[in-house]
Amino acid sequence: MWYAMSMSIKISLYIHIPFCRHRCAYCDFNTYAGQEGLIPSYLKALEDEIEQVGKKLTFPFEVGTIFLGGGTPSYLPVEGLQNILDTCRRAFLISKECEISIEANPGTVNRDGLSQLRMAGFNRISMGMQSANINELRLLEREHDPVTVIRAVESARLAGFENLNLDLIFGIPGQTMESWQQSIQFALRLKPDHLSLYALTIEHGTPFKKWIERGLINLPDDDLAADQYDFACELLAEAGFEHYEISNWALKFDHQAKVCHHNLQYWRYLPYIGVGAGAHGFLENYRTINVRGIKAYIDRMKLGVEMPYPASSAAEQVIEMDLWTQMQEKMMVSLRLLNEGVSATSFARQFGVELEEVFGNQIARLIQQGLLEWVDNPTQGCLRLTRQGWLLANRVFREFIGLKEPPLLRKFTHSTTTRVP
Ligand code: SF4
Repeated sequence: MWYAMSMSIKISLYIHIPFCRHRCAYCDFNTYAGQEGLIPSYLKALEDEIEQVGKKLTFPFEVGTIFLGGGTPSYLPVEGLQNILDTCRRAFLISKECEISIEANPGTVNRDGLSQLRMAGFNRISMGMQSANINELRLLEREHDPVTVIRAVESARLAGFENLNLDLIFGIPGQTMESWQQSIQFALRLKPDHLSLYALTIEHGTPFKKWIERGLINLPDDDLAADQYDFACELLAEAGFEHYEISNWALKFDHQAKVCHHNLQYWRYLPYIGVGAGAHGFLENYRTINVRGIKAYIDRMKLGVEMPYPASSAAEQVIEMDLWTQMQEKMMVSLRLLNEGVSATSFARQFGVELEEVFGNQIARLIQQGLLEWVDNPTQGCLRLTRQGWLLANRVFREFIGLKEPPLLRKFTHSTTTRVP
């Protein structure tokens, strides 16, 4: 077990809230509209799952970050969200400086509710602004307008949220460079502590996909999206933001940046628990995957099916991951960190083998193509994407997945999956 030597392990907790008032046209997340009648039983099932996981885990740990994501957590009654946090405090040891984030839609928050959330212990809020252009918001089928975003941010600040993120989307069909510049400038005027900028992807089964197939809208223009990304990189650097992950920027303050510690846990390939419908967890070499549907999730928690360690009754799969798979995944997620990248020493400590020994060929090829670079040296430094590599990151990641296991690693165990009907 790769973290067995520590006294107390810092882990993260993700809680999935799969309810939205309306489904946006581009969204393929595990979330549902028109299921409000299930909210009370879902909250009960969540509390049961948190308690069950708390009793089940056998190693000493402390929860360093909690993230309520979705879906739209802010759409749920505040008392229900307070109860969830109270249950976490009963079930787990929560660190004093725990980052507790909630995702919110600007159209589903008000000053009183936000004050109650702040008092309950939430100390970071992430708002889905997406665009400052009303036509783009309508095309995305978002329910808010730019004025609602201004009010929501003001209310969050008045409620005491000192750590606030805004999500924006570029590459929207019909979006011009000018309208993207206006959206970022609009966001900067709201003085966020953190910005997440995502390129729109067209997912199967979404209205966007159908509209494109019928020729009603055009596919996003990749060249324009690349220019929009470059523009954001320059403007946000001038505005004092640290670009620490491909899609994420944190405001620098007093030589520190207000990074999202919860997501850092994923990018550093460190352990986390996932509870709620469709949530994934990664603990002690096991990947746990919960059943996706709301009703199925509630039913499984009611039945209390006994699942192999470390999964709860809600798990549909428990996969024991061999170290070779973990090494490949580690490269994929940690190379997203633009400054930090993959540290050679932490890789060797985590897996008991040198990074160069395992991925030497891939690394040499990508360095030659100008997409990766060593900072310091290959035994003690860190490997990271070059500026050119930022835009071609998916090509870099593909080099590290689906590889045949090198003979020197064959001693490692192979994965097994437990599936439950
Ligand atoms: S609010 Fe977010 S999670 Fe809900 S449908 Fe829209 S994009 Fe998806």
